[in-house]
Amino acid sequence: MTAGRQPAGIAGLLVHALALEIEASERYADLADQMKSHNNLRIARLFSKMADIEKLHVNHIRKMIDRHGVKLQEPASYYWTSPEGPETTDPLDLHYLMTPRQALELARHNETRAREFYAQNAEKTQDEDTRRISSELAVEEEEHLALIEAWLAKVPETDTDWDQDDDPPFLPD
Ligand code: ZN
Repeated sequence: MTAGRQPAGIAGLLVHALALEIEASERYADLADQMKSHNNLRIARLFSKMADIEKLHVNHIRKMIDRHGVKLQEPASYYWTSPEGPETTDPLDLHYLMTPRQALELARHNETRAREFYAQNAEKTQDEDTRRISSELAVEEEEHLALIEAWLAKVPETDTDWDQDDDPPFLPD
């Protein structure tokens, strides 16, 4: 999705929503792996749960695409960006993430983008169906954002003991 470009009508909305939700589910699965490799099992579980939630979204949107007879000729692309801006890090390379706080901030940043995308679309569209679906999706992203915010509130700012976990350590070999 190009910044500033708004999808036209229900087809545009659903095609972009599909790309957005697929990206979210894949990035959360990556973040879960990343946190697991750092022994942060509780946060790994949170991200696994988020990946599942986003996967349900993907299925839901696929159903709407079928129901509205939308042709997926030109799949949209959508990528997570880092809070510092798209240039600073390759958003697909999550290995720079060392702390749960950084991972959660990345998630917060992208959940905010998702919510704003849907909210702006709801505001701009002239089509009643598009407005209703966009608003519903914006509310769901707001809920994801609240989940991430709640976890961020639990993670200390300094993160000095970020690799300490109440769970038994996960030893790869
Ligand atoms: Zn989300």
